[in-house]
Amino acid sequence: MLDHRLATQFAAAESPSREGLVIAVVIVACLLATGVGFGAGGLLGAFTGFVVAMGTGSGLAIMLGSKGTDLSPVQPVRVGQKVGGLSAAGACLGGAVLGGWRWGWATGLVGYALGAAVATILGWKAAHSIGNQVAGEQSAGLPATESGSLAVVPPGDFMARTAGGRPNQMNTTPYDGHPFHCACGAIHYFETGSTEVLRELGGMRLVLGCPHGNAVTCVKVRGILRFAGFQSLFGTQT
Ligand SMILES: [Zn+2]
Repeated sequence: MLDHRLATQFAAAESPSREGLVIAVVIVACLLATGVGFGAGGLLGAFTGFVVAMGTGSGLAIMLGSKGTDLSPVQPVRVGQKVGGLSAAGACLGGAVLGGWRWGWATGLVGYALGAAVATILGWKAAHSIGNQVAGEQSAGLPATESGSLAVVPPGDFMARTAGGRPNQMNTTPYDGHPFHCACGAIHYFETGSTEVLRELGGMRLVLGCPHGNAVTCVKVRGILRFAGFQSLFGTQT
């Protein structure tokens, strides 16, 4: 569907997903910890083991940025969430150690909640500082909404302007159903799984493939904590 050269260049840096591995490790850890907890402290002990493994596992999953964890697409916000994920995992584990097998489930839950609160505060602070930058950009006259004025550039220029970046790792489900102006001239509606996301670039930009032809389009993901639509920047047709 896509031009062979483009597809090859974009595929060059693909890396395997670690999502499956994280989920498998969490499940195994849950089962082990629940069993060990039951042996050490009966039913409450089993519950403690389960809470610790789930809390630590999901905290670590957030830090690693697994696709299922719904991280913010905004990089500094994501860093805050990752730090929060790590502190949630650590605090959950620490709380359980303090509470022992009998009360560890309660102290572990409190620890996890504290860690989650840290993540929220860090995310809010990062979003606040970006919000000021975006307000500055908008007052500088940049378009704030999706427009039809999409620059179509030669393929070589397109590759040069989208150099770097990485294979897409963000959760794109919040974008489902939202339109983007494609370099083919049509408006398409984004759908995770069927819309090709060829690259994730700095500045909250994605390279999207045309579902019907050989066009690729670089779009900006607008919005701070909540997705506010795509803004097409430039594209190419081969
Ligand atoms: Zn198209």
